[in-house]
Amino acid sequence: MAKKKASSSKMVYYFGKTRTDGDGSMKQLIGGKGANLAEMTSIGLPVPPGFTITTECCDQYYQQKQKMPKGLMKEVEAAVKTLEKETGKKFGDIDNPLLVSVRSGAALSMPGMMNTILNLGLNDKSVVGLANATGNERFAYDAYRRLINMYGDVVMEVHHEHFEDAFSKIKHKYGAKQDNDVPTEGLIELVEAYKKVYKKHTKQDFPQDPMGQLELAIEAVFKSWNVDKAISYRRIEGITGLKGTGVNVQSMVFGNMGDDSGTGVAFTRNPSTGENKFYGEFLVNAQGEDVVAGIRTPQPVAEMPKWKCDADKTIGKKVHAELMKIKTKLEKHYKDVQDIEFTIERGKLYMLQTRTGKRTGAAAVRIACEMVKEKLINEKTGVLRIPPNDLTQLLLPSFDPAAKKKEKALTMGLPASPGAAFGKLAFTADEAVERSHNGEKVLLVRKETSPEDVDGMHSAAGILTSTGGMTSHAAVVARGWGKCCVAGAGEIEIDEKGRKIKVGGKTFTHKDVISIDGSTGEVYAGELATVEPKLSGDFETVMKWSDKYRKLGIRTNADSPTDSKRARQFGAEGIGLCRTEHMFFEPERIIHMREMILAENKDDREAALKKLLPFQRKDFEGIFKAMKGLPVTIRLLDPPLHEFLPHDAKSQKEVSDATGVSTKQIKSRVSQLHEHNPMLGHRGCRLSVTYPEILVMQVTAITEATINCLKKKIDAKPEIMIPLVGTVQELSMLREIAEQTIEDVKAKKKYTGKLPILIGTMIEIPRAALTADEVATEADFFSFGTNDLTQMTFGYSRDDINSFLPDYLNEEVLEKDPFQSLDTSGVGQLVAMGVEKGRQTNGKLKLGICGEHGGDPSSIAFCHKVGLDYVSCSPFRVPIARLAAAQAALNGN
Ligand code: PEP
Ligand code: MG
Repeated sequence: MAKKKASSSKMVYYFGKTRTDGDGSMKQLIGGKGANLAEMTSIGLPVPPGFTITTECCDQYYQQKQKMPKGLMKEVEAAVKTLEKETGKKFGDIDNPLLVSVRSGAALSMPGMMNTILNLGLNDKSVVGLANATGNERFAYDAYRRLINMYGDVVMEVHHEHFEDAFSKIKHKYGAKQDNDVPTEGLIELVEAYKKVYKKHTKQDFPQDPMGQLELAIEAVFKSWNVDKAISYRRIEGITGLKGTGVNVQSMVFGNMGDDSGTGVAFTRNPSTGENKFYGEFLVNAQGEDVVAGIRTPQPVAEMPKWKCDADKTIGKKVHAELMKIKTKLEKHYKDVQDIEFTIERGKLYMLQTRTGKRTGAAAVRIACEMVKEKLINEKTGVLRIPPNDLTQLLLPSFDPAAKKKEKALTMGLPASPGAAFGKLAFTADEAVERSHNGEKVLLVRKETSPEDVDGMHSAAGILTSTGGMTSHAAVVARGWGKCCVAGAGEIEIDEKGRKIKVGGKTFTHKDVISIDGSTGEVYAGELATVEPKLSGDFETVMKWSDKYRKLGIRTNADSPTDSKRARQFGAEGIGLCRTEHMFFEPERIIHMREMILAENKDDREAALKKLLPFQRKDFEGIFKAMKGLPVTIRLLDPPLHEFLPHDAKSQKEVSDATGVSTKQIKSRVSQLHEHNPMLGHRGCRLSVTYPEILVMQVTAITEATINCLKKKIDAKPEIMIPLVGTVQELSMLREIAEQTIEDVKAKKKYTGKLPILIGTMIEIPRAALTADEVATEADFFSFGTNDLTQMTFGYSRDDINSFLPDYLNEEVLEKDPFQSLDTSGVGQLVAMGVEKGRQTNGKLKLGICGEHGGDPSSIAFCHKVGLDYVSCSPFRVPIARLAAAQAALNGN
């Protein structure tokens, strides 16, 4: 698409037949929606004309203490003039009035987060004009009452309930069950009633000047940028650095002009499965938001050809065929799945919006593969299209079919977002947040969700709604997050106040567990067993592509043969961190560990360690077997010893009975080992400096396991990693003991073959990074332990950060949790320095990362940039890391 130079002083960008100022590349300046409206217009799609106010104006509005930017309304007036000319309608006209919608639209999509006002331009005069122009008085007054309601609610903050009350009275008066049953005179009365509600709550008359209406509406959209729900959404989605929202003012088209009109939303391909089938929903005789709001249940677009009306028997067929043409045109142009909104006004189709369609991980993978096959995109674009974290959804468990067979589903909703979830019922978003925070697994049950609920939806294990379709708020948001969701389960009666639901003659309360299957829409009582997922051929294709383009190696953090095997199946090329302390906690082992800690002299300690050695050796043999041919980095004991001792009297008595050490001695050892800052205390390599016999036992177990495996032709490749080194002296001292131990074992086992066991260290103390040139002289490899490195660089306790992190994120003191995503500007400097200095003195140094960041896509991009050899992450994140590493390499090119 042609790039037009954006002039920053221009505030309004017109789109229509007269001219189109913007284009699809201008998302930052005119927002995603504005850019797409401009782009759609210029490729010849039937878009109602309008204009977009830039995001810079929103920024200026806040810079100038919430004052409308100077000159903005002048430009708006000029654009309205052009619009009037092009449409042949006039703002506020008594004969043929121009009506517009006013909608927000930031550079990144924030569905349902900000404000929309429809039918703007109606007043006491132009409503008559609209009735005349359309020959439909009922429709005109319906539009007017909707405007007063929306305007009152959005611009003047009059609670929607007040309008609802007025509407109920009118409905009652006319004996109308549904809104649609109210006759024209009822709507005329309703408009008067609404104007009274408006005046009562705002102390002003409903504004009659359309330009005045427009100005306040634009301001309301600016304001909606900073309401709580929008701020929460940006925080959850990690959206930062945007200027504000654009404002789209567009001439209205009406889907509620009768049975030859309608409105709908659709995806050019199925957003749940990725299947290449146009996928959407529509409502006859309905206006814009009705489909998304989930108030009436829409019909699938596939059934549109059956739509007939008195005026036109083939209306459905024609519109459907035109939509299919538009699908092809859009995908050819955008080369991606589009999420569109359309309206049919008296048989004529209009496109109101298109944007890149949000999709599940499974759909992202399938769409990428199929679009490559269809030659719409190339392989590299295919790789770049899939958000790495979304792969998690493909690796998620589903309900065990055997367990499902035994249970009868309580009811069925729509399969809105795949996966399997269960939890105790929570009835409000706040409740979901609070109970999940307290460690409960909850399922959020709502009639329908709204943007206010996003925090609760995010905290819940899954979401269940009783109304709304596949494109309702709950469905769209849940799919974006890969959260399991069943929507529109209409048989469920929800009693929010009573905190219970009724379904199939049964009642469930906040104490009961419900299971939902987001892939089928089924809802079950109780907790159903889950099974591991099977990966599709498309997934394998994406992994193959990723491996072709990535430069980083991918290892895993695993401490058991089972985890190692799983990680290997996911494509791990070795173990980057085996935390040996996890091997000491089983009952038959912990007792010897405790004996070792409680021992009063070296002989007793060695005697206890001797009992631990066979366990360790066996564990290592199992892991070497699972990872045969691939490197396995084994970290020597790291945590402070007090973590292995019991702290309550009952457990201390049990240990005393088992070891023969008196409870008094145990207590005294526990208090002796107590440290004020255990994370900064006697742990890591410091343990081996004080008790070298621990290191000797572990290295002996590693070496014996290696020799045993090699003898059985199992290609074991251990790497010994010494943790928490801060000075080269620590490493050189411990390396010497380790090397001597290896030699001793070889001699004892009369093993004369080669035993290339590497010895390296973790870089997790800032001093080690600062002196990496020295440390590297004693190390065969570095592995950046960015958990501790982050802890020590920020001075934030890893275990206590949650006491203040939420405030830091809310107040934007921190953009992200630095323990999840590497702080590239601070901690990252230490990593980069460690790499550079390390390689200065040791050209052969292998470099990796094994902190949690090794599985985080943006941290992986950083690791690629600074030139690490590999990243290591938990088994389930291995595929994510493979893809993220490929994207880093492709983006770096
Ligand atoms: C680290 O500190 O980054 C690390 C991997 O070690 P641990 O999390 O076990 O302290
Ligand atoms: Mg550590």
